Amino acid sequence: MKPVKVLRTLYVVLILSAAALSAPTKTPPPDIFLITIDTLRADHVHCYGYASVATPGLDALAKDGARFTQAFTPSPITNTSHASILTGLLPGSHGVTDFGVPLSASHPTVAELLKAQDYRTAAFIGAVILDSKNLAPGFDRGFDYYDNFPEHVSTKSRWGRLERRGMDVVEHAENWLSQHPAGPHFIWVHLYDPHDPYEPPPPYSRIYKDHLYDGEIAYADSALAQFIAYLNKIGKYRNSVIVVVGDHGEGLGEHHEDTHGIFLYDTTTHVPLIVKLPGGRSAGTIVAAQVRTLDIMPTLLEFAGAPVPQRKDGESLEPYFGGKSEAARPAFGETDYPLRFGWAPLRSVRSDGFKFIEAPRPELYDLQVDAGELSNRYESRDARVEKSRTMLAELRSKEAPTTAPEPSSLPDPKDKIEEQNLLHAAMLASEDDRSADARKTLEKVLALDSKSPTALRQLGELELQAGDYVEAARHLKAATEVRPDDAAALFHEGQALEKARDLGGARDALEASLKLMPGQFEARLLLGQVYLGLKDPAAAEDQFEAALLLQSGSVEAQLGLADAQITKGNFAEAAQSLEALSKVQAKNAHVFDLLAKAYSGLGKRTEAQQAATRANLLSSNK
Ligand SMILES: [Zn+2]
Repeated sequence: MKPVKVLRTLYVVLILSAAALSAPTKTPPPDIFLITIDTLRADHVHCYGYASVATPGLDALAKDGARFTQAFTPSPITNTSHASILTGLLPGSHGVTDFGVPLSASHPTVAELLKAQDYRTAAFIGAVILDSKNLAPGFDRGFDYYDNFPEHVSTKSRWGRLERRGMDVVEHAENWLSQHPAGPHFIWVHLYDPHDPYEPPPPYSRIYKDHLYDGEIAYADSALAQFIAYLNKIGKYRNSVIVVVGDHGEGLGEHHEDTHGIFLYDTTTHVPLIVKLPGGRSAGTIVAAQVRTLDIMPTLLEFAGAPVPQRKDGESLEPYFGGKSEAARPAFGETDYPLRFGWAPLRSVRSDGFKFIEAPRPELYDLQVDAGELSNRYESRDARVEKSRTMLAELRSKEAPTTAPEPSSLPDPKDKIEEQNLLHAAMLASEDDRSADARKTLEKVLALDSKSPTALRQLGELELQAGDYVEAARHLKAATEVRPDDAAALFHEGQALEKARDLGGARDALEASLKLMPGQFEARLLLGQVYLGLKDPAAAEDQFEAALLLQSGSVEAQLGLADAQITKGNFAEAAQSLEALSKVQAKNAHVFDLLAKAYSGLGKRTEAQQAATRANLLSSNK
């Protein structure tokens, strides 16, 4: 190479390097940590002005970030509100309006969109209600790892079966991060602790013994602080985005609501929201404008440089960080949870200092003078009411039409809240195996409303477990008379009647249940047995065949089918399938018992004798 050319090349290289240096260097996308704390009321956090709890973790994060004093969730129940956080959509848009409703693949989640930007994604949940194999199908979309609960748990304790303590959740997240250090990361950590029952571990159980809800908050805060300390230790704190938010609040007896889910008052919809930005930006900022948890998803996507989907109900919070905006955003609220109990769903708008709640008896609160929402100022011709109704109507026109009954024809949840408190207490008692407490509480519900389908069904299920089949059947029959479309209650009614040897009644209940939900394996199996008991082997055969279509390997269904075939005199077919089954079920007395009957029907006396001997031997060895 000639010297001139070398020099020219060098010159070009220098120019290029200078250009590279002067151009704004593209910073790598930040690690993003989304921490949701369940059932966390904004006004029960220390940095939100509540003196009766110590939350040093949240307080420190607020100092390093922006604290939103007026953030609202659109939903007071866990799965619905988390679906809104993950999708930036209102419940009516994403459709997860109850537990167990799948999060449709047509709504991209923040995890999916960040994964598409080469983020490593993982979720660590604190409650089985967010288990994607259980009550939260679709929530794991976009996560490389989703920390579901083990499928088989032998313990009767809540811990590990229904809930994980915050420290366990955080430890799972830390272990995963240590094993997957390459980022950028998007990590969702869900701390369930403040959710009832309020059972903080020591020393919080002692320090907060007279207000255990706060004790749970203090404990959850300690888990948060531990996680933040870990992020500091691995050098991921300073340049990361960390969002901490409550999924909803807690009634604590205000408006007569003990927990959450039924109402849309601020007690359960006003949540803390803290956003820590990379590099200490906006540290210590306090944002007083009204915002929504819907705004989290577009904000995170913006930080990651990821495209924001067209269809969204939230907006990025970016304008608030530099003080570029102080504009309040309208906050909608929705709850279909009352429908579960046969009561009217509620809708609300929080805007311009007022809250309007659409209900059979509508409500309007002037939040400037009545922050506790105690004095209902609703009048039908009020301009604020009309404006709120217009906003709600516009929203509904964008949502998918629902099949929910006309709200006004259902009872107002305000008239039913005492029942709901009791039903909730009974559910907790059942979960914790305190059946006497559960029974007593459910009887109190029935004293308020003798036709409460939820109480009748739960009482029936309790009696079924306790072995009082006649009582169980009586309660379940009453429940299914009020609610004839409850397939699960009908199935349980069938179980109770079969045990009580009312086979005709069991048949009717099971047929009705299967008409509503044809894919129930257990119901098919039981109905097959009922038909055998009713000496209708052809109908029994149909049920066992249907059961085998659902679970082809089921030994019980194969045995039921063989039994039905023998009863019909179809010995050859039964013998053939039983011979095959006897090879894999060599220790199952029932197989050889039926085989003896089949051989005997075929006139094979020696084989019949051998099979009968084998069956006797196996059943006596049990
Ligand atoms: Zn929750």
